[in-house]
Amino acid sequence: MKTIEDLDVAGKRVFVRADLNVPLSNGSITDDGRIRAVAPTITKLLQAGAKVIVASHLGRPKGEPDPQYSLAPVAVRLGEILGTPVAFATDTVGESAKATVAALADGEVTLLENLRFNAGETAKDDAERGAFADALAGLADIYVGDGFGAVHRKHASVFDLPARLPHAVGDLIATEVGVLKRLTEEVERPYVVVLGGSKVSDKVGVIDNLLGKADRILVGGGMVFTFLAAQGHQVGNSLLQEDQIPVVQEYLKRAQATGVEFVLPVDIAVSGSFPDVKGGAPVEDFQVVDADKIPAGVLGLDIGPKSGELFAEKLADARTVFWNGPAGVFEHPAFAPGTRAIAQALLDSDAFTVVGGGDSAAAVRILGFDETKFGHISTGGGASLEYLEGKSLPGLTALEG
Ligand code: ADP
Ligand code: MG
Repeated sequence: MKTIEDLDVAGKRVFVRADLNVPLSNGSITDDGRIRAVAPTITKLLQAGAKVIVASHLGRPKGEPDPQYSLAPVAVRLGEILGTPVAFATDTVGESAKATVAALADGEVTLLENLRFNAGETAKDDAERGAFADALAGLADIYVGDGFGAVHRKHASVFDLPARLPHAVGDLIATEVGVLKRLTEEVERPYVVVLGGSKVSDKVGVIDNLLGKADRILVGGGMVFTFLAAQGHQVGNSLLQEDQIPVVQEYLKRAQATGVEFVLPVDIAVSGSFPDVKGGAPVEDFQVVDADKIPAGVLGLDIGPKSGELFAEKLADARTVFWNGPAGVFEHPAFAPGTRAIAQALLDSDAFTVVGGGDSAAAVRILGFDETKFGHISTGGGASLEYLEGKSLPGLTALEG
């Protein structure tokens, strides 16, 4: 892969595919980690005299403009972080984009509106994606791929556009891939993996590959309940993916055969209803129950305190840790202790610690941990998981040639 240093960018229009898909609440950015992560690449290009065109997706609009997914607030924050004004184009390949790009002087930067306001960005049809990539290519002379969180997507700006322009990998992707190599090729043992979060089916897949690599797998978050059900326990109204039960049973068997230790929580914090995350209203019926005795009618929303201690013990001797997915609904203070215990255990260990996943990274910061104390906080959840699954990622393949 070529890096930015391999290309002559002075005076050129450089298209930077970033991942600025940040969490927003009522139009304000609640975690700007992804913006800060790509800023050094943009600054480097600006200092080299490039005209920089930044593009990203935000959320999941339906292929047409939708104001709630506008990147306008991101343009403002990006400008603050870069310390230079960011011209915002109110469309992606239309009149506003063309005029804004044409007006750029060397060392100036623009952000285009949400790529996914165009159906061609995510189209399954190669020709439709290709046509949108052609339009994007018309805006620029050089492509820099630096949207790590999107490299697992076969989307126009990620996969098709680099084929149309001289291209290089940005510093963020280069760093992220370097870290993932450390988790797959040169791993220091014990290697402990902590999985949690909500998207059960997305996360179960990675276990298949990790069973051949990790020494220990700790399970928290919504995934727990599919594991508990696989062991024959009742899980009340908790998140459960019944179709994954046989898969999980097979994993548990394989782990036993290959000597990989699965660690499941022994207690669970529950409530009769999903907590008021926005308002933070207290949870009146909070209780901690044994993991194998979850009563009917309640939802498991965090690992319990005994499990937090157990997980910390299982992390204490680790030399390498990969953590993806919060242990509970950390957005409500009543269900944050499990996630907090894991973050603290990572800091207390001497391991090379990698935190992957948008919500996990946000959790670390929102819970007040110093992110510089972790080995690496990845900007991509799905992308890191697919890499660890051993899949080839379209956005990386596209940068190779
Ligand atoms: P990441 O973005 O780090 O990959 P996910 O998106 O998979 O993580 O999951 C994050 C979400 O999982 C959080 O919003 C959290 O509230 C939710 N979550 C964690 N545990 C549970 C649970 N037991 N039940 C429901 N949701 C949960
Ligand atoms: Mg997430």
